[in-house]
Amino acid sequence: MSHLERFYSGDPVALARLITHVENRGPETDRILAQLYPRTGKALSIGITGPPGSGKSTVVDKLCALYLGRGKKVGIIAVDPTSPFTGGALLGDRIRMQDLALNDGVFIRSMATRGSTGGLALTTTEVIKVLDAFGKDIILVETVGVGQVELDVAEACDITVVILVPESGDSIQAMKAGLMEIADIFVVNKADREGAPRIASEINMMLDLKREKCRREFPVVMAQAVNNVGIDELLGRIDSEAERLKSGDNFEKHRKKMIRYDILKTVEHRFRNRLLDEILSREKLDDFVEKIFAGQGNPYDLARELINDLK
Ligand code: GDP
Repeated sequence: MSHLERFYSGDPVALARLITHVENRGPETDRILAQLYPRTGKALSIGITGPPGSGKSTVVDKLCALYLGRGKKVGIIAVDPTSPFTGGALLGDRIRMQDLALNDGVFIRSMATRGSTGGLALTTTEVIKVLDAFGKDIILVETVGVGQVELDVAEACDITVVILVPESGDSIQAMKAGLMEIADIFVVNKADREGAPRIASEINMMLDLKREKCRREFPVVMAQAVNNVGIDELLGRIDSEAERLKSGDNFEKHRKKMIRYDILKTVEHRFRNRLLDEILSREKLDDFVEKIFAGQGNPYDLARELINDLK
């Protein structure tokens, strides 16, 4: 049996290998992804993002259990742009999730920064495609909220859930613009703690304008993930959002938006790599380094010259 045949037959080892291949971006990667593409488009991908310690893993665990209860096949991708190690630290935190994995055939994959941040977002979308083609119904993508990467990853998912906690009061202002843009659903987790209603009303206030403009609900769910409180409501909100995406002309709009994103991310990444390869392979770069070191010229003019040379 070929590797792809094993993958198509549902072999999780073949799935894991294929994901490693995509992460390492071998010469065959594009061809394989192109081959898988016709089998994609069935899964619902849900991005779960928020600051460290806000309860993302706990929410993911509980949601996963509910989906399994519905007979769904679940894949989990944990993206940690803050960790330079592949999987390392994150996997350590995931002992309890491994129970899920062992018991129910949930596929869990951790991804950490490797190369550029743009690369991580692209790889995430590709791994989503691989899990989709493998036959997962639900793909939960957990991302530690740190700026651009979380925004990029959120764009790659059908639905984005942003988790905040009563303590995130200050960070709301800082993260406001980006978070407001990407969130379909907000969760105020740790609602057992003081300050939860206040943060919920702050979020609601910020959402009012957007709700009016988009004529959408953008719900705010109060939860205590660790006590399994509010997770049913969250699931119901996700269901409603998934329905909305399928209804009327939303389906076409949403699909086209995702296709556009895939193309742009791929172009961006390849373009960048190609240009860098070309520039870095030039002797001129070394000459420039020597020159600037010797006190002649500056990096800005010389960078422009390198780029002009490409045309
Ligand atoms: P992550 O870093 O965002 O993935 O957060 P975790 O899911 O690892 O949760 C961080 C800590 O918060 C853990 O000790 C959880 O048990 C705890 N936690 C999760 N949900 C709640 C909650 O609703 N209330 C309280 N008090 N603690 C919670």
